[in-house]
Amino acid sequence: MSLLAGKVAVVTGASRGIGRAIAEELAGHGAKVVINYNASSAAAEEVVAAIQANGGEATAVQADVSQFEAAQNLIKAATDTYGQIDILVNNAGTTRDTLLLSMKEDQWDTVIDTNLKSVFNCCKAAVRPMMRRKQGGRIINISSVVALMGQAGQTNYAASKAGIIGFSKSLAREIGSRDITVNVITPGFFPTALTEVLGEETMNESKKLIPLGRWGELPEVAYLVSFLASDKAAYITGQVISVDGGIGM
Ligand code: NAP
Repeated sequence: MSLLAGKVAVVTGASRGIGRAIAEELAGHGAKVVINYNASSAAAEEVVAAIQANGGEATAVQADVSQFEAAQNLIKAATDTYGQIDILVNNAGTTRDTLLLSMKEDQWDTVIDTNLKSVFNCCKAAVRPMMRRKQGGRIINISSVVALMGQAGQTNYAASKAGIIGFSKSLAREIGSRDITVNVITPGFFPTALTEVLGEETMNESKKLIPLGRWGELPEVAYLVSFLASDKAAYITGQVISVDGGIGM
């Protein structure tokens, strides 16, 4: 039997990048997956088509997860469509990089709302239906190695990603008795639209700092997500696990 057969997963920000890789990985293990996106509708439909072409089940749902009500609607769409929610992957994220001295209030607010408030919004909506079902659950939050190391030009991003860690450990303590686990993944460098802006020179420089000498490949985050989402990870909660080639150690 497939690792995640009979499970329903919601992956936020799954229209491309790491979120897409996670959605495809979960669907490949038999989960029915809700592909959340905010603006990229065509890309999200492409992910659905790719999953269906491989014999999986998926549906795309638009929701700006930085908005409380939209997140409620997203989780409701999942339970309306598939009858339950077992796995929530909070992956949606963005950057507005600049040094603190030139950072505008809206650059701070956008990053905190998209990366951190979204995690509160989606967990708040998903935990109740998970509890009601009495079958446990899995919450996996995508933070960043920057939460642990800091990064010049990313005070807003690092704060949002470090906030996810404190939030997740607290929630893990609140809902552990219901067999709902909450874990955090801190990726290092992965080639996506988010990191494209860094340019080739920074990419090459960054590789010198990574013990494994290369950027990660998107499935390398997704493999950990499918493990944490499975019954095999039932005794792991409140953990922060890096997939970063060793840069954050
Ligand atoms: P990406 O390619 O830019 O993808 C971001 C995804 O988030 C897109 O699907 C985007 O969809 C969605 N999104 C953005 N704002 C949203 C909102 N308000 N509501 C719903 N969806 C929203 O980024 P990525 O590199 O794959 O990053 C995925 C996650 O990994 C992020 O949390 C990021 O911080 C984290 N991370 C990435 C790296 C890396 O090296 N790439 C490293 C560490 C951590 P739309 O286009 O529809 O808005």
